[in-house]
Amino acid sequence: MGNTKIKVAKFGGSSLADAAQFRKVKEIVESDPARRYVVPSAPGRRSSGDEKVTDLLYCCYGRAVNGENYKEVLERIRARYEEIIRELHLGVTLDRQFAVIEEAFLAGAGEEYAASRGEYLNAILLADFLGYEFIDAAEVIRFDRDGKFQDERTNFFLKEKLKKVPRAVIPGFYGADDAGNIHTFSRGGSDVTGAVVARGAGAQLYENWTDVSGFLLADPTIIDHPKKIDSMTFGELRELAYRGATVLHEEAVYPARREGISIHIRNTNAPEENGTVICQELRPEQEVPITGIAGRRNFAAVSIAKNCMNSEPGFCKKLLEAFEENDISFEHMPSGIDTVSVILPKEEYEQKEEAIMESLKRLLEPDKIEVDRDMALVTVVGKGMRSVSGIAATFFSSLGAADVNIKMIDMGSNEVNCTIGVKNEDFEKAIRALYYALVEPERA
Ligand code: ASP
Repeated sequence: MGNTKIKVAKFGGSSLADAAQFRKVKEIVESDPARRYVVPSAPGRRSSGDEKVTDLLYCCYGRAVNGENYKEVLERIRARYEEIIRELHLGVTLDRQFAVIEEAFLAGAGEEYAASRGEYLNAILLADFLGYEFIDAAEVIRFDRDGKFQDERTNFFLKEKLKKVPRAVIPGFYGADDAGNIHTFSRGGSDVTGAVVARGAGAQLYENWTDVSGFLLADPTIIDHPKKIDSMTFGELRELAYRGATVLHEEAVYPARREGISIHIRNTNAPEENGTVICQELRPEQEVPITGIAGRRNFAAVSIAKNCMNSEPGFCKKLLEAFEENDISFEHMPSGIDTVSVILPKEEYEQKEEAIMESLKRLLEPDKIEVDRDMALVTVVGKGMRSVSGIAATFFSSLGAADVNIKMIDMGSNEVNCTIGVKNEDFEKAIRALYYALVEPERA
């Protein structure tokens, strides 16, 4: 179990976009002495038309290595940090760092090195502002030479280091291999650093501070002011994230989940709001029937019919082999007695269609194959669905009343989720019908 005296606080790019945001972050960090380790992103957008420093760094580096004019972009990047230094009256200068960065860009230090400098510089400023020690992520976050993250070695290095440093700022997004080359996680990867630091610090809580007050129960572009999710389990988060609800980087979840560290999504601009807690198990009284509704468009359903397939041993094995041969994974496999359908992302399917058809015909000798290219998947997630009767009835009657034709149903046996396939054009209609029937009937 983690240590209650230690919280790791990760702040996203918009939470650290300018001096005013830095001030909010300081107030948050100082209001709880348990916030001993802070992981910042690079400065993000200050308003909707603005640029993220990370994007500017990629652009600047591209120009530098192609012999184009990079100076103007480099100046724009620098101006972002200089403004923060000036407005906060910090005692640091970044002259030396910018000289090193420029030289490294011209020497072709690599895109990942370039992108990582946004977090690196921001962490130097934040450490100074908070009076915390700066720990370069290149020292503690380990990758192999091919850029694969090494979780156990990282944990070892972090543990050793953090034992000696009670309060520190550790930049997100990057680390280094043994030769000192910088590697980054994929975009949004400071979330991953935050989780990894929480593990290394033996923290009990990983706070992820962003610009929204947690996960919403449904996409706000489809549902006007949906309810917020107060708490959910890691399993529910995985289902929702998989179906397109995003707030956290996917790879940030695993280290926290494995160590039993809860994640708390909070809003830097509204710290009084309670956000969303993601934890291993909810107490029964916290379980609500529906945790969230999410979905994605553009799937294809490949349906295979063969007389007596149910009595042909190994039929499913061969079916799976046909997809495996073509290196494609699928989402669902609803089946009947003589038919089975495989549902997979349409674009990926179409890229490999010919080869998949060849494999299916060769391995299965089916009577018929049909492809439906117009499917959206909508999933309702909620562990509490297990213990409430009548949910399925409300679920299906709401879709019927909204005139949504259901093409496929797949209900996980653990009753954490129920997924339906509908026409792409019915996607939003289905989400609205389900939301108002299951979550806020009073607003229907
Ligand atoms: N700054 C990086 C990005 O924009 C990483 C992060 O913010 O988490 O993707």
